[in-house]
Amino acid sequence: RPIVELRGAGKAYGNVRALHGVDLAVHPGRVTCVLGDNGAGKSTLIKIISGLHQHTEGDFLVDGEPVRFGTPRDALARGIATVYQDLATIPLMPVWRNFFLGSEMTKGPWPVRRLDIARMKRTADEELRNMGIVLDDLEQPIGTLSGGQRQCVAIARAVYFGARVLILDEPTAALGVKQSGVVLKYIAAARERGLGVIFITHNPHHAYLVGDHFSVLRLGTLELSAARADITLEE
Ligand code: ADP
Ligand code: ADP
Repeated sequence: RPIVELRGAGKAYGNVRALHGVDLAVHPGRVTCVLGDNGAGKSTLIKIISGLHQHTEGDFLVDGEPVRFGTPRDALARGIATVYQDLATIPLMPVWRNFFLGSEMTKGPWPVRRLDIARMKRTADEELRNMGIVLDDLEQPIGTLSGGQRQCVAIARAVYFGARVLILDEPTAALGVKQSGVVLKYIAAARERGLGVIFITHNPHHAYLVGDHFSVLRLGTLELSAARADITLEE
């Protein structure tokens, strides 16, 4: 069954109907791509699921339970993690230190504040390797990594701290072909680990490379919602 589900969900900001009648399901081990032009409602959808905004219409369910007044803290506690485009990494901090940023907020595998530095470094190194990222020096400031590598560190961090659902906000938008490839490979790795992924993108090609389901928003409503098997490339 889906971890996260929207049923006829919507959001109005005062008189502005940003999202209306949206059905969406996020299953473990599947990538749901959300496409749409600027103003289509993609950010509003992310904000509902990550607890930043309340939906004003329909239902929002996590593990089958309706969520009425979700908060970002609730979302994190339920394993819903958002990786924003601006990454929430601190450029001048070492890679390993960035890996543990914000970990107080989540149910980490152990109380991270009590970890000694050597163990934190070792853990960051192991986790990044597990997800296929090999960096020769975790002491380097994260700002020296490529955009694609930084995205991957942010995703690995969310996975390590217990995310079951990853919301990726345009993770390839600012990247070139090669770096986009790195991130797409990484999205596939998260799926292999059984995470449900919401992949927000403008890029239909990137969506098609990793997506299991495609939801296209237009002016706040679903223009298309189709499983991969139902998509034909002809026409
Ligand atoms: P997208 O992320 O796809 O660009 P948004 O969810 O940001 O779309 O916006 C959907 C619509 O809702 C747009 O018409 C936008 O102007 C409007 N909107 C978004 N946020 C707010 C807000 N906080 N207050 C009023 N209108 C908003
Ligand atoms: P929620 O209660 O879901 O957290 P918001 O905090 O997004 O809702 O919005 C509360 C009210 O403030 C809404 O009615 C909306 O119209 C208004 N609002 C919030 N952000 C903006 C914005 N960027 N532009 C215009 N109005 C906004």
